Amino acid sequence: MIRFFILFLFTTSIFASHVERYRWNNGETYLVFLQNHNLPVRELYYNLDKDDQRLTEEMRSGIHYQILKDKKEDIEQILLPLNDELQIHIYINKKNYKFEAIPIISTTKTEAFYTTITSSPNYNILKETGSKKLAQIFVSSFKHSLNFKNDIRKGDELVMIYDQKYRLGEPFSMPTLKVAMIEMHHKKHFIYLNDDGRYYDEKAHEVEGFLLARPVRGARISSYFTKRRWHPVLHKWKAHLGVDYAARRGTPVIAAGSGTIIWASRMGSYGNLIKIRHNDGYETRYAHLKSFRKGIYRGKHVKKGQTIAYVGTTGRSTGPHLHFELRKRGRAINPLRVVQVTTKKLKGKEKKAFIKLKKNYDQSINLHLNNKTAYKKRPPFEEMSYIHLLEEKNNG
Ligand SMILES: [Zn+2]
Repeated sequence: MIRFFILFLFTTSIFASHVERYRWNNGETYLVFLQNHNLPVRELYYNLDKDDQRLTEEMRSGIHYQILKDKKEDIEQILLPLNDELQIHIYINKKNYKFEAIPIISTTKTEAFYTTITSSPNYNILKETGSKKLAQIFVSSFKHSLNFKNDIRKGDELVMIYDQKYRLGEPFSMPTLKVAMIEMHHKKHFIYLNDDGRYYDEKAHEVEGFLLARPVRGARISSYFTKRRWHPVLHKWKAHLGVDYAARRGTPVIAAGSGTIIWASRMGSYGNLIKIRHNDGYETRYAHLKSFRKGIYRGKHVKKGQTIAYVGTTGRSTGPHLHFELRKRGRAINPLRVVQVTTKKLKGKEKKAFIKLKKNYDQSINLHLNNKTAYKKRPPFEEMSYIHLLEEKNNG
């Protein structure tokens, strides 16, 4: 059996079916969601394998999702985005509801805007764009190098260039900052996203961000972070929202950063799990632990590099290893982008490549400065609607 998924753009009036848009509420669980929509919990949860059940735990509050209903208001399809690459697809097939994970079809656009400051970068970006996310990434990117509170004057200018993903015609997921410029006291300050995925200032010095240590010293990485991966044997889409470190049972696990333990107990397929809350909405998770170190319990403050537990194979695990996750405001991010011991100064070939990239960015920045590029507002959602069509075909 082969299935085809096609995304089309239509005006809703053409179809008897219509799309409704919802928001995942704070504290809402997948099971509550099924019950609220009168969907069968057995087919759509209890009969799923453990991996798919784990995926349903990835829904985050504030996420927008779509339900396609027929003219009798019965649910035909639901799309629940889990991260920016994978989504749960619930659909009706021969009167039964089915569950599957499928890739998200998205497009990425590079966007830019200019604004002058009357109050603070946070206030004026929010005023210009209406986007808390854009304000947040701008402010946090300069956080360690500039003091916006004392050094900002009215009339200072800023430009931001970033990548925004769109799904079903709407922006979704965190934008990726590519370059930001702010002028303070007639001096321009920059941050550039380099090809290595890290941020540098105009002198090719890495901008200090959130620094994490490797959670198991000297261990080999046995599985990398991926938001979606096609499993060739199981024939389905899966996600691995962490990094696995292979190590002998009993090897010490250290806190990747300083913070407060918010969980030190068993948790389903994670087995023995520790969660540490850090500054700025970061959280790290350490799973499949053999045991916790004495004195490690919920509420305890730990320092970066301190031993907190020992490698094991509890929960759903095939052998001793540490499954390590990094989350920011609940969302899984690739820890290897953040795990580093020191900040970097680019040299030689790397520096040359960066300077070339910087030159291109600087030209764009100047263009937006001269044009005073305004933020482009999008048409409201109601004017268009996307319908996700499903065709089935028997293949012998
Ligand atoms: Zn893992």
